[in-house]
Amino acid sequence: MAKQGIRRRGQQQVEDVSGNGRPADLGVLHSLVTEMLLALGEKPGRNGLLKTPERVAKALAFMTQGYHRDIDHLLNGALFPIEYDEMVIVKDIDFFSMCEHHLLPFYGKVHVGYLPNKKVVGLSKIPRIVDTFARRLQVQERFTVQIAETLKSKLNAHGVGVVVEARHLCMMMRGVEKQNTIAVSSSMLGAFRSQPQTRLEFLKLIRRGSVGDSD
Ligand SMILES: [Zn+2]
Repeated sequence: MAKQGIRRRGQQQVEDVSGNGRPADLGVLHSLVTEMLLALGEKPGRNGLLKTPERVAKALAFMTQGYHRDIDHLLNGALFPIEYDEMVIVKDIDFFSMCEHHLLPFYGKVHVGYLPNKKVVGLSKIPRIVDTFARRLQVQERFTVQIAETLKSKLNAHGVGVVVEARHLCMMMRGVEKQNTIAVSSSMLGAFRSQPQTRLEFLKLIRRGSVGDSD
């Protein structure tokens, strides 16, 4: 399986993490989808397409609901004081997002690790943070950095590592048509950036087989 690395970015500015956007306008989306069907040479009035504009509008609103989810609200009451200072890892978090260049899906897995600094976050909140950023129009690199920067700042963690492995339908269905290519991106902050042994431990732990695997 081909794996393609995406160069890790340095201290990149992270945009719109606050999620203060408005809910999608279903009425506008509905009429735009009708227009789009016409532009594609379809007949929006034929039976199979009658409900399509409404369905597409709702699907788009669902897939972009991360714009109006608030991270602070999501984490409210889920941060716990603790003396534990070993690495915490949540791996194989499934995600589905849409590339902002083609409005086509990209999907895959996110692996997250952090070194706590006197507080930890409820484990179920990490996939919800991933979802919040996945459900916006994205590029994989920014998605990766947003997850890492958010955890680093909200937890005041000693370090955070995030690795994203994804397949992009815009690569698979059109253009280069590389069906088996997986794009890998990573963001390493704090101790994960400055201490090679911390980064290596994280990378080793996320590569290990899943619980219940024979090897
Ligand atoms: Zn794309």
